[in-house]
Amino acid sequence: MKSILQNEKKCYISGRTDCLEEHHIFGASNRKNSERHGLKVWLTHDWHNEPPNGAHHNKKTADFLHREGQKVFERVHGTREDFMRIFGRNYL
Ligand SMILES: [Zn+2]
Repeated sequence: MKSILQNEKKCYISGRTDCLEEHHIFGASNRKNSERHGLKVWLTHDWHNEPPNGAHHNKKTADFLHREGQKVFERVHGTREDFMRIFGRNYL
């Protein structure tokens, strides 16, 4: 499944096009669900997996992406109840 958050291959946060890595917005046990529903974005390495701002190190960055992901899910796939049933909680 391709991303439902972006069509262009560029960093979702900075807009840069170098050092890109794919990030599944909901990780751990929900990584499969993120893949299935296209809830993934491109991030530069710094915004992905590097302190202090990277999504895997910084709760603010991770939560920003959680909220963006849920909003787009609800626009594209279904209701808030659907989202919560699949991903187990409400981020909005
Ligand atoms: Zn990641």
